[in-house]
Amino acid sequence: MAKYDLAIIGSGPGGYVAAIRAGQWGLKTVVIEKDPFLGGTCLHVGCIPTKVLLHHAEIYDTFKRAEEFGFTVKDCKVNWDAILARKDKIVKKHSKGIEFLFRKNKVESVSGWGRIAGPGRVAVEKDGKITEIEATNIMLATGSEARSLPGVTIDEKTILSNRGVLTLPAIPKTLVIVGCGAVGVEFASIFRSFGADVTLLEMLPKAVPLEDEEISVELEKAFRKKGIRIELEAKVESVTKDSKGASVSFTDKTGKKQTVAAEKVLIAVGRRPLTENIGLEKTKAKVERGYIHAGPYLETDEPGLYAIGDIVAGLPQLAHAASMEGIIAVGRMAGKAVPEFDRRRVPNATYCEPQIGSIGLTERQAREAGYQVKIGKFPFAANSKASILGQHEGFVKVVAEEKYGEVLGVHAIGPLATEILAEPVTAVSLEATLDDMMFTIHAHPTVWEAMGDAFNAVRGLAINA
Ligand SMILES: Cc1cc2nc3c(=O)[nH]c(=O)nc-3n(C[C@H](O)[C@H](O)[C@H](O)COP(=O)(O)OP(=O)(O)OC[C@H]3O[C@@H](n4cnc5c(N)ncnc54)[C@H](O)[C@@H]3O)c2cc1C
Repeated sequence: MAKYDLAIIGSGPGGYVAAIRAGQWGLKTVVIEKDPFLGGTCLHVGCIPTKVLLHHAEIYDTFKRAEEFGFTVKDCKVNWDAILARKDKIVKKHSKGIEFLFRKNKVESVSGWGRIAGPGRVAVEKDGKITEIEATNIMLATGSEARSLPGVTIDEKTILSNRGVLTLPAIPKTLVIVGCGAVGVEFASIFRSFGADVTLLEMLPKAVPLEDEEISVELEKAFRKKGIRIELEAKVESVTKDSKGASVSFTDKTGKKQTVAAEKVLIAVGRRPLTENIGLEKTKAKVERGYIHAGPYLETDEPGLYAIGDIVAGLPQLAHAASMEGIIAVGRMAGKAVPEFDRRRVPNATYCEPQIGSIGLTERQAREAGYQVKIGKFPFAANSKASILGQHEGFVKVVAEEKYGEVLGVHAIGPLATEILAEPVTAVSLEATLDDMMFTIHAHPTVWEAMGDAFNAVRGLAINA
């Protein structure tokens, strides 16, 4: 029987990053993956393919504004097959990249369904054959799948999840998206740019419900301007397929029944953890509604068993969170000095147009937590680089604590918001104060300067507004 220091089940951004770090720190590591490729949801049907499509949509949007930028472009046509082919090429390249990094760091990978067989033992099932692996530590990184609505069957042809929507043979003329979270708004942005008539239905009273209220309002405004229909407080009752596509029936916020027909319907109502049939019943790990409880080093109640990524109770389902959880857990196993995983330091990035980047407390959360809150806001309309880019929508909002100037949260919507987010992530991680940030020199001209102005705006000292 093969013996390892660490066996990881799942090769998503949680599992593969943990494996590479384990290899770097000298742990003999094996990764078990059920799919015929490495990289998980994020690389194959999540972060990467969606961002490829968003980038293509952005290029197309720029072509549509060619005259404004001084170009005459005749007959600009979308070649959907070529766009999908480029997406697939990028995904494949990066999946091969993980294989290379595994070889470089002496990480082994085994194909098959992984399951805990007992303390320190993992069974791998492939084509009806079971082999066993022995490992001092086991890490579960099995990720998640899209949820559906009660009574709604996703067929990936008409009623789609994130999987089917990424391989559509053509751009649909009409698309209904159920769910206004990050996944829903990113696909709304992509398909609206490519000309689809898009309707977004959201059960809660605001779009991107986890974001600061002002960010949600700004996104709703920008989306409506683009021609995306948004129905908030819409309770979807049924999705019925017919010869033309499907009809979605919902009760709107006034209590009126409405039906909207579309060629395709995307269900984007969240993700469920993939923790069935992985042998958890043989362990002391605490499992609640499919999510595994883990401590600050991602350790479960079963000695030597760790859980990371989308399957962990109470942690955000994000690739960068999964990766850092893996790094911290592996550091613990290798006896390194690593910090506890702190969920308050996990940034959120939504790559729709306009982009959203945020970290820390929203204004409402800060007030509810009892802080004396001070707000600084700066609009991209007053930022010179935003003028150069021709992208004036949105703002940066800083939520700070009045007395000591602690930076509690930063929320940006607008050009490159997901990139300039790196600054407040560092600020929050290093517990920088408002005064530190006010004296940080921001390169000129950059959209990042809007963030500098927002920090200054908390004290009423923004230069450009
Ligand atoms: C459309 C979409 C867009 C997204 N965009 C972003 C984004 O831009 N940024 C971001 O941070 N997050 C994004 N996410 C979320 C991100 O994809 C997930 O948070 C991330 O993939 C979770 O990583 P993970 O390692 O926990 O699991 P996964 O990536 O789901 O990987 C789990 C792996 O485990 C394998 N597996 C499962 N069970 C077994 C088993 N029993 N045996 C062997 N192998 C098994 C699976 O095949 C899979 O390869 C997006 C998600 C979606 C759906």
